[in-house]
Amino acid sequence: MKFVSTRSADPVGIERAIMSGTAPDGGLYVPESLPHFSVTDFDGSEGFAPIAARFLAPFFAGSSLADGLAGICTRALNFPIPLRRLPDEPAEVSVLELFHGPTAAFKDVGARFLAATMVDIIAGGIYAQPPVTVIVATSGDTGGAVAAAFHRQPGTRVIVLFPDGRVSPRQQHQLTCWGDNVISLAVRGEFDDCQRLAKAAFASDTLNAAHNLVSANSINVGRLLPQAAYYAASSLEHYRATGTASSYIVPTGNLGNGFACVWAKRMGMPIDRIRFATNDNTTIPDFLRSGKYQPRASRATLASAMDVGDPSNMERLRALCGDVDGIRDLVSAQSVDDDTIRATIQDEYQRHGIAWCPHTATGLHIYRQLSDADRASGHWIVVATAHAAKFDTIVEPLLGIRIEPPPELAALLDWPADFATIDADLAQVERLI
Ligand SMILES: *Cc1c(COP(=O)(O)O)cnc(C)c1O
Repeated sequence: MKFVSTRSADPVGIERAIMSGTAPDGGLYVPESLPHFSVTDFDGSEGFAPIAARFLAPFFAGSSLADGLAGICTRALNFPIPLRRLPDEPAEVSVLELFHGPTAAFKDVGARFLAATMVDIIAGGIYAQPPVTVIVATSGDTGGAVAAAFHRQPGTRVIVLFPDGRVSPRQQHQLTCWGDNVISLAVRGEFDDCQRLAKAAFASDTLNAAHNLVSANSINVGRLLPQAAYYAASSLEHYRATGTASSYIVPTGNLGNGFACVWAKRMGMPIDRIRFATNDNTTIPDFLRSGKYQPRASRATLASAMDVGDPSNMERLRALCGDVDGIRDLVSAQSVDDDTIRATIQDEYQRHGIAWCPHTATGLHIYRQLSDADRASGHWIVVATAHAAKFDTIVEPLLGIRIEPPPELAALLDWPADFATIDADLAQVERLI
């Protein structure tokens, strides 16, 4: 399978699409065409990694990674992604828990798969000479997932740029506890300064020549594809048990997770309706209502990993669906404000004794808002994007309890942290790498 840019048709192999992140014309890589599956294509495949390998095989066909794909899936997708039924509900509803990876957020899935493919591409010697240097600017979750995924991976180094004093203590620890081939830099400034520094590094010929820079940001097709795979696997799991399709509610910021769900549906998986839950950054719901796309500056909310005013993957959604009517046929979207997020975290804890993170709460609220007819019309799956313990400073005071970090997160919190603090100046980055 070849990949093309959303802006022009100059096909490249999946190795190049993964190693370059964005296309040279500024567009995003998408597969030339989408494969189509029926549920029986997965007969004989059990468990997430084997189902993902089957689902992703057409994208890797003809590439240098085709033979190794099953191994990549086994190595990268090695933690559980349970579809948990909410007990004692009048209608059928499940939560897809994507947060059982090393940094307790769904970004582990994409980051680990991306790292595994990059390591094999580098070892194959086709598109990059080792060592390559992954630069990642982060406002919190992405940097930890990428650092964890590349930590001690042969032929790679990681530079994490995060805004000094603007990430939560637990997030900061996940950004700075790695050592070995991971360098963590606290940048005096905001997330935008970190992103500007990363862009300046990629634009610098001398830095590129010296370090083989590669990007691991969330628009990389190597992160999106495995995300589509968990929609394939979870919809299949429910279909095998009941013979019916599932509808999804996806907490949404940059639209990487939500768009992956759209791909899985378009590829024929048993997926019925798709709803995006946004926070008070309302660009997507406003677009679906008005038909006019108006990007904005982002606003700070409790669901901070979704604070995005101009979602990058909107470009892929528009390229796939054509006009806004095409998008409306496929998805709907609704925003949830901070007061409602707080109330939902408390309400759900009272109902089930489960503490959910603020991002997941946006999705649960939208489920509660469905009409009785909608709720009763089929199986709904609310996507849980992070463990509540990652957002302890928000969730603990609301519930008046202590939230124990899951074992994988607790282990990281015991590692010593180490980082340097720099100005938002490329020369300082250059000196430290
Ligand atoms: C990144 C993130 C999101 C938003 O996902 P997108 O793919 O950017 O839409 C939601 N929740 C959590 C916890 C995240 O880390």
